[in-house]
Amino acid sequence: MFGTLNEKLEKIVKSISGRAIISEEDLNTTLREIRIALLEADVALSVVKNFIESIKSNIIGKEVLKSIKPDQMIIKFVQEELIRVLGSNNEPLNIAKTGITRILFCGLQGSGKTTTVAKVANFIKKDSKKKILLVSADIYRPAAQEQLQILGKQIDIEFFDHQNSQSVETITLESIKYAEKNLFDILLFDTAGRQTVDDKMMEELKIISQKLEPQETILVADSLTGQDAANIAKIFNDAVSITSSILTRVDGDGRGGAALSIKSITGAPIKFIGTGEKIDQLESFYPE
Ligand code: GDP
Repeated sequence: MFGTLNEKLEKIVKSISGRAIISEEDLNTTLREIRIALLEADVALSVVKNFIESIKSNIIGKEVLKSIKPDQMIIKFVQEELIRVLGSNNEPLNIAKTGITRILFCGLQGSGKTTTVAKVANFIKKDSKKKILLVSADIYRPAAQEQLQILGKQIDIEFFDHQNSQSVETITLESIKYAEKNLFDILLFDTAGRQTVDDKMMEELKIISQKLEPQETILVADSLTGQDAANIAKIFNDAVSITSSILTRVDGDGRGGAALSIKSITGAPIKFIGTGEKIDQLESFYPE
């Protein structure tokens, strides 16, 4: 997913490697090239600015340019900054030891949200004997509910039938009651997405979040959204405090910019990446 960015950074790094002396001018040129590489990888401008500033202050503050191996120090700082932004380990889903784990999925329509809910259900099922319930609160698109129901059937996971309720609050409360009564361990909660963020969607999402009290609130984002990823992440995070995110369509994106932007803006780890349309095409994300 970071293929193109990696290649570019390698080239930039090569151009300074082995040098005993690096002038401030060389450093500025190198940082400018890194900045362009990040922007071309679709990392959001504000994130790029912070990234470059942070490296620069480390290099200048620590008198790297006068050190014995300035090139390697600069490379180390770039690497460290990437790890600082993305995190270093894979973080697993936050599954409660006792009681029902409630996982809320949010994101824009078309981001791959519903498919991802089923992928996560399948992922959990493979690893454990947990009893999982799928819920859809997309009251606007019966087709979306049907889609989740069909996907659930494919992987033999129950779908909660709310019988066309038009209230997200009722669906949330009823599904929790149903899960408690029938001894489910995990409730995966799909929500309506719009093509663009709108107030009504956010208000609804807030109600669901308040009633559901989820252990995980996952933002599902399309890695191809590029520069928009930062805005989308900020709006969802402000509304419902994202605890993790899943990037979809990584199979079609060699730039990886959305990953850096979303992690940097929300601070929440990217736990999985979607690598195709099939239900088993979900991988744990290892930032290192
Ligand atoms: P939603 O509107 O956000 O619920 O999106 P859907 O789950 O309906 O997904 C929209 C389309 O994206 C579907 O055709 C999915 O098969 C496809 N999709 C979802 N995740 C991925 C992925 O990781 N890679 C690829 N290539 N396609 C995906």
